[in-house]
Amino acid sequence: MSILRDVYFAQVGHLDPRVQLWPFPDSLMGRLIEYLVAHEVGHTLGYQHNQKASSTYPVDSVRSRTWIKRMGHAPSIMDYSRFNYVANLATVPAIGLPSGFSKNGLPLSLAVLGTHFDESTVYRVAYAYEQATEWHRRWPAAAG
Ligand SMILES: [Zn+2]
Repeated sequence: MSILRDVYFAQVGHLDPRVQLWPFPDSLMGRLIEYLVAHEVGHTLGYQHNQKASSTYPVDSVRSRTWIKRMGHAPSIMDYSRFNYVANLATVPAIGLPSGFSKNGLPLSLAVLGTHFDESTVYRVAYAYEQATEWHRRWPAAAG
């Protein structure tokens, strides 16, 4: 379950205030597990990964709330686009990084934003930050 939590934190933590709750609420963990189980059931039925399917959805469409409500943010559950991290308010690539804990021991995150279509810089900055800090290796006291 920690990989689900970590991936969610990294991909959409800057968009979802529920990541500041620790542990994540059962309602959120339930949705994460639901998606993972559905994906793995797809494999047991013989479906392979289908990242190509997401290329059929225009970026501006997955940033549209009304379009997402009608179509979902990915055309295939066999893609790895579990979370709609494209839909941030700034419409630029972004990643959330563990950056410490609040006075109450809740996890904090640092949002790294790049310019349009410059994900590589965002990843390089995120990697450099993780090399310079240890926050991504620490857990809140409540997590044990
Ligand atoms: Zn898979």
